[in-house]
Amino acid sequence: MGTRKALIAGNWKMYTTVVDGCRLALDVAKTAGNFTDREVLIAPPFTILSEVAHVLAGSDIIVASQNVCWAEKGAFTGEISPVMVRAAGGSAAIVGHSERRQIFGETDELINRRVQGALAFGLLTILCIGETLDERESGKTFEVLAAQLKKGLASLAVADMAKVVIAYEPVWAIGTGKTASKEQAQEAHAFIRETLGKIFEKTVAEQTRILYGGSVKPTNIDELMAQNDIDGALVGGAALDAESFGRIIHYQ
Ligand code: PEP
Repeated sequence: MGTRKALIAGNWKMYTTVVDGCRLALDVAKTAGNFTDREVLIAPPFTILSEVAHVLAGSDIIVASQNVCWAEKGAFTGEISPVMVRAAGGSAAIVGHSERRQIFGETDELINRRVQGALAFGLLTILCIGETLDERESGKTFEVLAAQLKKGLASLAVADMAKVVIAYEPVWAIGTGKTASKEQAQEAHAFIRETLGKIFEKTVAEQTRILYGGSVKPTNIDELMAQNDIDGALVGGAALDAESFGRIIHYQ
């Protein structure tokens, strides 16, 4: 992993309201520990972003939004601006999650605008990419990943990449209980790293953190984190349980 600091990120999706969300955040903070080689991030629903940020104020845990608009303000019904995320106590955003792409029809072009907006307001930006089962079975995985990277990161400069994290989340492994094998994940991560080098330059490839997401659990985190190009995890289901998420944070 070289000098890349690991990042364990929990995506709470559309789960939790204020009482259970704050309790979960507190429980995670208690079990998170004080690591110097890894960071922890939580992405609660928008409605409790500020409460969760408040509860976590004394900790090092990063608070993120699950999506973000490019504009500071305006007529964007149903959206949340990067300035709002910051004002609520967040400092990061997840962008391009497969549920946004698949269920809500978000395109690479739209996602690129979100990435640019998040960066313009200084948010750590987690860009999610990943192939569907059909795409994998028809041998298109690398083609899809390269296209999502190129389009999702369009117009970004090398310096912008210091605040970008890539999350490789094979769609077929999200919420299905099917994890990519450590070999499949490592292969995709190595390809993503190589592609970042081609789009930008070698230092970007070396320095960008690439997280794996898709049914990460306490039972598979250690072998995933042992792979050279896996720098962390984006965790859905298992992030809703403080004990499981705690164990994932404490990967060996
Ligand atoms: C996710 O939501 O990003 C995710 C990977 O979910 P799960 O861990 O439940 O598969």
